[in-house]
Amino acid sequence: MKRNNLWAPWRIGYIQGLSEKHDCFICHNVKNPQQNEENFVLWQTKSCLAMLNKFPYNNGHLLLAPIRHIAGLEELNDGELLEITKLIVASQKVLTAAIKPHGFNIGMNFGRCAGAGLPGHLHIHIVPRWDGDTNFMETCAGTDVISQSMKDLYKQLKKASTENNLPGF
Ligand SMILES: [Zn+2]
Repeated sequence: MKRNNLWAPWRIGYIQGLSEKHDCFICHNVKNPQQNEENFVLWQTKSCLAMLNKFPYNNGHLLLAPIRHIAGLEELNDGELLEITKLIVASQKVLTAAIKPHGFNIGMNFGRCAGAGLPGHLHIHIVPRWDGDTNFMETCAGTDVISQSMKDLYKQLKKASTENNLPGF
């Protein structure tokens, strides 16, 4: 059976455990820059953060978020809007340099009914895609293979960031 959506049932435990600001992993990452490597924070810019999703839909799944704990796009100021948009571009560049995806899904979920795991802190999903990758994910998602490969992936993306001068601002 071919799946075309981004529903990921193994995320449910994680989704149910998070809602309030004190449980917000994005705010946690902002407050603990000394843990950037273990939290897989790739970049921190003036007002935004780019990190690997610890519960990825696919290899290289990044999350972009403003540093401020805000829920809606309309709450972003002009500086944040510009930065987060530039981070989309930089994310595609670094992923292309490091792991050569065939395509991307880039999107946002607002509200739990729309699939937002962390509705209080807006974030943009950058999901690299490869031809035929849905079959791979159905077989391997949620296993230890992913968490181990994420450490290697993080190093790869850090290296590609340096080599390509990303995010570049
Ligand atoms: Zn937050």
